[in-house]
Amino acid sequence: MLTVKPLIAFEDNYIWLISHHRHPYIAIVDPGDGERIVRHCQSQNLIPVAILITHHHGDHTDGIAAIKQHYNIPVYGPAHEKISGITHPLTEGGRVVIREIEAEFQVIDTPGHTPGHICYYGHGLLFSGDTLFAGGCGRLFGGSAEQMQHSLEKIRALPDETLVYCAHEYTIANLTFARIAEPENVAIGLRQQQVQQQRSENKATVPSQLRVEKQTNPFLRWDNPLLIEAASNYSAQPLTNAAAVFAAVRQWKDDLD
Ligand SMILES: [Zn+2]
Repeated sequence: MLTVKPLIAFEDNYIWLISHHRHPYIAIVDPGDGERIVRHCQSQNLIPVAILITHHHGDHTDGIAAIKQHYNIPVYGPAHEKISGITHPLTEGGRVVIREIEAEFQVIDTPGHTPGHICYYGHGLLFSGDTLFAGGCGRLFGGSAEQMQHSLEKIRALPDETLVYCAHEYTIANLTFARIAEPENVAIGLRQQQVQQQRSENKATVPSQLRVEKQTNPFLRWDNPLLIEAASNYSAQPLTNAAAVFAAVRQWKDDLD
């Protein structure tokens, strides 16, 4: 059975460590801080066996070199982004087999936050990088709203039970916006209370269940009539397709940030 634990880096980054309960090995997702991981592995007697990268931003990749100085391990990452140290470039449909932790992940192309962003899915777990956040989604730094909506549509098609491991603790701010976008959605208010409680106890609000995201994350709800109406009002024009609704909601949040 796989276990996933976070290492917190910088202000609010989660570096995910995937392990198998029978083995001392770990796979590392998006190591922004390499020294921190090396220290953790040495003190916990863990042996890194693979690095998985979702996109090129430094807070997800800057630790690759430091880890590679200590451990000569494969580095999986998006084929369509320029990232130093990648040994196994991946695109849609690619597979990552990590024998040491008995894990296999499938690659989903998810352009939008960046043009070449990928996610990893397997064992009911989704490592979504900066594409889908708990209660939100990544900003558009290079990809278009159409691309991002299409990427999120692929994620939305995964099973409800999927656990979403995103790379940042942004949930409170995301749900504050969700409440503004969908004031009548009771599930958002309830989730907001839960998340505030978790954060007051210094607990991570990640992972979240995809079912909950579908109910409360406005960036997965482009076909909800009330959200379509609210987004149309915000952009002062009737929005008639999913990408346009998504684009308006993304713009709305950007304007408030
Ligand atoms: Zn990013």
